[in-house]
Amino acid sequence: MGTITDDPAALARFSTDASHLVGTPAAAVAPRDREDVQHLMGWARRWKVPLVGRGGGSSLDGESVPPPDGVVVDFSGWTSILEIDDADRLVRVGPGLVNRELHRALQSHGLFFPPNPGSWTMSTLGGNTATNASGPRSLRYGSTRSWVRGLDVVLGTGEFLQVGHRTRKASTGPDLLGFFVGSEGTLGLFTEITLALAPAPERRVGLVLGVPDDLSFRATLPRLLAPPAPAFSAIEYLDRSTAAALSRFAAGRLPGDTGLVLLELETTSADEDRDLERAAERLAAAGFAGDPVVFPDADQLWTLRGQSGDAIEQEGVRIHEDIAVPWSRLDELIAGTKEIGTRHGVTTRLFGHLGDGNLHPGFVLDPLSERATTVRRELLLLTKRLGGTISAEHGVGAVKAPYLALEHGEVGVSLLEAFKRRCDPDGILNPGKLYPGPEAAPGRGSS
Ligand SMILES: Cc1cc2nc3c(=O)[nH]c(=O)nc-3n(C[C@H](O)[C@H](O)[C@H](O)COP(=O)(O)OP(=O)(O)OC[C@H]3O[C@@H](n4cnc5c(N)ncnc54)[C@H](O)[C@@H]3O)c2cc1C
Repeated sequence: MGTITDDPAALARFSTDASHLVGTPAAAVAPRDREDVQHLMGWARRWKVPLVGRGGGSSLDGESVPPPDGVVVDFSGWTSILEIDDADRLVRVGPGLVNRELHRALQSHGLFFPPNPGSWTMSTLGGNTATNASGPRSLRYGSTRSWVRGLDVVLGTGEFLQVGHRTRKASTGPDLLGFFVGSEGTLGLFTEITLALAPAPERRVGLVLGVPDDLSFRATLPRLLAPPAPAFSAIEYLDRSTAAALSRFAAGRLPGDTGLVLLELETTSADEDRDLERAAERLAAAGFAGDPVVFPDADQLWTLRGQSGDAIEQEGVRIHEDIAVPWSRLDELIAGTKEIGTRHGVTTRLFGHLGDGNLHPGFVLDPLSERATTVRRELLLLTKRLGGTISAEHGVGAVKAPYLALEHGEVGVSLLEAFKRRCDPDGILNPGKLYPGPEAAPGRGSS
């Protein structure tokens, strides 16, 4: 067995994630190999001890907060890159490898793993897979689900499952692999991940434009994305006050006192000038005024943009939401979100992955208050009325578990629960997360 600790000082760093929830782990285990994980699973079944897998601990809805007296299974040391297959554009990794480290390792191969969450400097591929994470580039490349080809999983029964294919397609019944992507450590623990890769564009340029507060995205987005489009791989949005908060981290690199749209353009050194010209024409045709600020390396823009949540948190925002609607309903979502904030007397901030119709409304509220529950519920109901989803990329965790039936209906939830029972009959894997059932509360909140 790897290392085990029950030292309170060492456990403190495992007791919470990037949410407001705090758990009380009994111990943390860092397994060495798959046999260790299987052994641990057998022990936990025998003594009915909850286990919670952990990568970077950057979840926003309590996905990695330990249940009471649970044991944290720390995968952060599992950082190996086991294989880079240039011919088939695949990579096999340990689940604890940090997203940006994979990016770095692939640079000399001319390949990349497209999902780039704002947390890419700290979140792991195990966590990204278990939450089906996305990032700005998901506009062009989709979320993590589109890039996971295979998983080695130790189920809650202790059984070992290898699921998925190295091939680009398979037609062997329903998507068994897909059940595990986004499963938030509730079905099994990943010990190895096979990911598909994309050819890396030679150049990625970031563009930043000021936009008026009343811009209609319903009108603008189709014009921005109409063929023959410049290759925009990301379109992000920050409202005026979020942009002002973020500009404190930006050393003067962002336009001031205005809402912002951030874009990424994929190009080559040879084509860059011409592509930038075409992009400027397209932006003007879509109704944007003025010249964009250019970030020659878009990754610098995304690392900066990834601090938006921290920036507004410094101003008191304590609820970070994550919802998405079809493009045509974005204006209604923005107006409705502001209306909910105004009606409840709550300061509201808005930013998100505009190209995916995915917004992260932030509210200055005690997340444990009744008002917070009401605001969240109203926002989720509004999102569903607009044909959207209650979680676009952060996951369900403990915070949204009570709302799962809003998304899938009672029948849908019962199907998910049936699969959960087969994989984890004793309910030891991350209880209180994802499923609305009568499981233990995830941990006491701290405001
Ligand atoms: C500043 C900031 C910006 C963010 N930006 C984005 C963004 O742009 N897009 C986005 O999608 N998310 C974003 N997030 C949320 C978060 O980073 C993602 O959900 C990320 O995928 C979590 O990865 P992690 O390694 O930190 O996972 P953790 O928080 O450690 O765990 C997440 C879940 O995965 C499970 N898990 C971890 N390892 C394993 C394993 N080996 N086997 C099975 N289950 C496992 C855990 O049990 C838990 O349920 C952001 C968070 C922060 C703090």
